[in-house]
Amino acid sequence: MKSTGKVTGIVSNLVTVLTDGPVSQNELCFIESEGTKLMAEVIKVNGKSAAVQVFESTRGLKNGNTVEFEDRMLEATLGPGLLSNCYDGLQNDLTTMTGVFLKRGEYTEPLDHEKLWDFTPIAKPGDKVVAADWLGEVKEGWLPHKIMVPFSFKGEYTVKTVASAGQYNIDQTIAVLTNADGEDVNVTMTQKWPVKVAIKGYKEKPRPSRIMETGVRVIDTLNPIAEGGTGFIPGPFGCGKTVLQHAIAKQGDAEVIVMAACGERANEVVEIFTEFPELIDPHTGRHLMERTTIICNTSNMPVAAREASVYTAMTICEYYRAMGLKVLLLADSTSRWAQALREMSNRMEELPGADAFPVDLSSIISNFYARAGMVVLNNGQTGSVTFIGTVSPAGGNLKEPVTESTKKAARCFYALEQNRADKKRYPAVNPIDSYSKYLEYPEIREYLSEKVTPGWVEMVEKTKNIIRKGRDANEQINILGDDGVPMSYHELFWKSELIDFVILQQDAFDAIDSITPMERQEYMLKLVLEICDMEFSFEDFEECRNFFKEIINLLRQMNYSEFKSDNFYNYQEKLTNLLNNGK
Ligand code: ADP
Ligand code: MG
Repeated sequence: MKSTGKVTGIVSNLVTVLTDGPVSQNELCFIESEGTKLMAEVIKVNGKSAAVQVFESTRGLKNGNTVEFEDRMLEATLGPGLLSNCYDGLQNDLTTMTGVFLKRGEYTEPLDHEKLWDFTPIAKPGDKVVAADWLGEVKEGWLPHKIMVPFSFKGEYTVKTVASAGQYNIDQTIAVLTNADGEDVNVTMTQKWPVKVAIKGYKEKPRPSRIMETGVRVIDTLNPIAEGGTGFIPGPFGCGKTVLQHAIAKQGDAEVIVMAACGERANEVVEIFTEFPELIDPHTGRHLMERTTIICNTSNMPVAAREASVYTAMTICEYYRAMGLKVLLLADSTSRWAQALREMSNRMEELPGADAFPVDLSSIISNFYARAGMVVLNNGQTGSVTFIGTVSPAGGNLKEPVTESTKKAARCFYALEQNRADKKRYPAVNPIDSYSKYLEYPEIREYLSEKVTPGWVEMVEKTKNIIRKGRDANEQINILGDDGVPMSYHELFWKSELIDFVILQQDAFDAIDSITPMERQEYMLKLVLEICDMEFSFEDFEECRNFFKEIINLLRQMNYSEFKSDNFYNYQEKLTNLLNNGK
């Protein structure tokens, strides 16, 4: 039975309610206010008193107003039509509106109920099925979208009927299933799922064993992320977090992309809202938006809606993963999510943890990252959710709680450095501090040996070593002066600059340089390492500097040329000549 209640106290969006029956943690409720109903979520229960967080402004709300509890949690609506949509954290459809903001008490339908989808059955009458098994398929854009046994179904069912191939809307019955007690249940193309609960419905979740290519060299070459892996990009404001994430979104080897934009300012979110639909997918030449869902929030939206957004995004990802698809989730910035958590816990006057964040911040973040992963479905196929979040630590301080907690949860770390951004060395990923723990996995090392080239991981380690030695040499040169160090120091330094300019730096705004396929990354790294292996005998440091500047220039021209084109080989020939004369 559903409980009701009366408002007894209001502090900003936090409302205390005297209840007449049981309510549960995270249950949804609606509060009557000036003729509209405001959606809220239970965040604390104490006897007959419940603290609820309202998802929008509580302006005008009064003590004594009635509250209706829903006996369900905040849910995402799942079904064909999620892609190419832009939602807020409560899955209000933002594309149907003129602005990014809804009126108070207004909630929109996340999916189109009229649209007809071309359905093809997969299951047959008599089949035994469980939650998440595939019953049929529709085409969403060009992607196969599986219609599944709802995730909430428990135990085994027998398929009684499946709709024949044809056009149906999301509310029509496409299958009738019989449960163990002999009762029939109808299945449509849409279902709901509570966003804060991970969707199961798979056989196992093995360790990631493949790489997800991004076309970004500092990631793929130096610190690759696994398909189904987790990573995060911390960096001060303006260092290139958003540009890097958008590059990964555009180029990443994934079929479905979900962008959770938790913006600092409204205009940042409006940007993604207007820019993303313009982007062309380099893999298919079609609009990237066809296989993307955007979840938008700005910091002027109420705190609970902001907190919900990352969960809504993750739930949509898990839904597509259950169809056997490769899904990429990008959240920018997760610091805004953590701040929402902080605001909520502060209003509840909970005992605060470090920097006033909730004491369990670390476990909230870890639990969220743990929802990513590669899974083996019941039918043996695989699906994955790869998750990369950005963190914007105040003042670039990597010791702050959100960065530290995320570091424990994510397996790849791409630290953006103010110093590199200031020098316009983009992407400003620090090559020494950044890491990928996947490089330690034997199955990933084996995968790279096979997929790229034998000994690849050793080559990458060697590259990092040269960068490290170059940094040390540079320090000595700065202390002792150009003439105070042996020539070998200059050579070391310039070899590391060669790697920096040719491999690490990458122009996100150049059509060719921005996306480097693995084959090309391998070719260029081998070429650069070959030069690093050479020993030179320069007369003085100026000769050394000029020589390397020329080499760098030629290799950069190669980066900007079509791979293995005439132009590309012309520059390479010039390079070969230069190297032959230089020795
Ligand atoms: P953040 O999200 O960390 O605040 P942005 O991603 O908005 O920073 O980047 C700020 C600016 O830095 C961009 O507008 C762009 O001019 C520059 N920039 C960042 N990354 C690159 C890149 N890979 N190539 C070229 N310019 C870049
Ligand atoms: Mg940004």
